[in-house]
Amino acid sequence: MATNRTFTMLKPDAIENGHMGKIIDMILAAGFSIKAMKYTRLSKAQAQEFYAVHSERPFYGELVEYMTSGPIVAAILEKDNAVADFRTLIGATDPAEAAEGTIRKNYAENKGRNAVHGSDSDENAAIEGKFHFADSEIF
Ligand code: UDP
Ligand code: MG
Repeated sequence: MATNRTFTMLKPDAIENGHMGKIIDMILAAGFSIKAMKYTRLSKAQAQEFYAVHSERPFYGELVEYMTSGPIVAAILEKDNAVADFRTLIGATDPAEAAEGTIRKNYAENKGRNAVHGSDSDENAAIEGKFHFADSEIF
């Protein structure tokens, strides 16, 4: 995958709270284009694997439970400087610390149920994109 791509998930709270369309609008308005997208639900095994880097953290069990609690939207996005610009667009992990105008400031409930995922490096963007999409689903 090219380094001008990132991976995102609209998390179960965002879907449950009816924010799917508004968040996708914000992503497109910020100049990202959609290279892959699906509406799906993570299995427990998938959520455990996706967040394996956090397996020793105290919030891991709760995170896996939350991420499997309902459907998500997974997507691969493209834009110059995609990873960094998308992290700026989503804001800090905790919405209480997120800047005005960010997706998490607008739509996250709290630090755990924080509406959206964004890859933290080009390397992880590629790994996470491949985790969710077959080559034939990426455009
Ligand atoms: N998380 C949590 N409690 C914490 C930190 C993180 O529940 O104290 C959850 C939250 O949903 C977060 C995810 O674990 O988005 C991954 O954490 P990370 O530190 O990678 O934050 P992110 O990269 O999503 O901003
Ligand atoms: Mg992270």
